[in-house]
Amino acid sequence: MSQTPQGISILGATGSIGRSTLDVLRRHPDRYRVIALSGHGNLELLAQQCRQHNAQFAVISDQTRASDLRAALQAAGSHAQVLAGANALVEAVELEQTDTVMAAIVGAAGLQPALRAAQLGKRLLLANKESMVIAGPLFAKASAASGAAIIPVDSEHNALFQALPDHCKTDLGAAGVEKLILTASGGPFRLADAAELEGVTPAEACAHPNWDMGKKISVDSATLMNKGLEVIEAAWLFHTGPEQIEVVVHPQSIIHSLVAYRDGSVIAQMGMPDMRTPIAHALAWPERIESGVERLDLSQMRQLEFYEPDTQRFPCLALAFAALRDGGSAAVTLNAANEIAVEAFLNEQVGFMDIPRIIENTLHRYEAGPVENLADVLAYDRAARRLAQEEVRDNV
Ligand code: NAD
Ligand code: MG
Repeated sequence: MSQTPQGISILGATGSIGRSTLDVLRRHPDRYRVIALSGHGNLELLAQQCRQHNAQFAVISDQTRASDLRAALQAAGSHAQVLAGANALVEAVELEQTDTVMAAIVGAAGLQPALRAAQLGKRLLLANKESMVIAGPLFAKASAASGAAIIPVDSEHNALFQALPDHCKTDLGAAGVEKLILTASGGPFRLADAAELEGVTPAEACAHPNWDMGKKISVDSATLMNKGLEVIEAAWLFHTGPEQIEVVVHPQSIIHSLVAYRDGSVIAQMGMPDMRTPIAHALAWPERIESGVERLDLSQMRQLEFYEPDTQRFPCLALAFAALRDGGSAAVTLNAANEIAVEAFLNEQVGFMDIPRIIENTLHRYEAGPVENLADVLAYDRAARRLAQEEVRDNV
């Protein structure tokens, strides 16, 4: 490639998506250069990544750990400059050299820098689904004003993006789309009965049969809240509503999602369950680049199964559909309560089936209101977290 390399900053570089992104980038040194990498917990890993990928900036939002990060960078032999403090992630996005932002922080903590990227017209590769769930209309407004391309990395949404025509990815009517069909693996407890679900441990919930992911999304996959969040994410990304979105359980995770058209055609995107495919697609779109992913061998696929999801055993999916129908701040409350409940479950303060109970109670206690701007989102998010914390305490 003769053109100048694209500058990429990765928010959440030390996580599962961040590491997979770096794995794809290292295969294409002529095409991409790493500008900034952010971390949160593991500073040694962040420093190693900065050295290996010759990053210009190492980013951490906790100001008190800036000197630890400097020491780690020095020990690793990296010359990256440190950006630290509450605004550091946004500063990394704002850097002139940052052309493309990979938003791979987990949870609402990733919202502000991702939204900033959309406002500035940068290419935004969006893995951080929670930020789209809580601020979808703000992303739509920002990208319409700035012309920013928002390319979904979540495998289902990336599949839908691939299966939609290029000229109308956010105008499903013009594209002749009848339905967006999201596939769900069903998680590790697809076949568990209600009594077994009550006794699930964090270690069991984090052992996903097909995907290797961070802890929070692994628990979300086990409760099916991950699919619930993805339904809302799809609604905002593709400018549609709950009536046009369907979920089907597909335990093999080979078909990553499908678009059903008016003429009866259904277009699916398939591949091995490896996030490097959607990451490489999002990085290079509309081109295609090598991702390092094992090739799909159809002759080895004995069967591809599809089932209806069971919202009795997995109420989180129904709660998410209801929040999308309610509109306004309901999705913010749903997401905040889920983040608190999952954290409490991972800390063994509450049981697995307390997660949907905490979310439902929080939603009941907090009437949805309109969401106009970032300040609204942050205020609803804070208030819902407080209520959900109370629900956790009542549960213990
Ligand atoms: P992870 O837990 O492995 O990594 C999260 C990253 O965010 C880490 O770099 C961590 O240091 C950083 N981080 C965490 N809390 C932070 C905070 N408060 N401030 C700043 N940084 C913080 O998570 P993951 O599995 O890589 O998932 C990242 C996002 O991508 C999530 O939103 C998830 O839903 C989405 N996603 C992940 C996968 C997957 O296969 N892992 C698939 C689809 C979507
Ligand atoms: Mg997904």
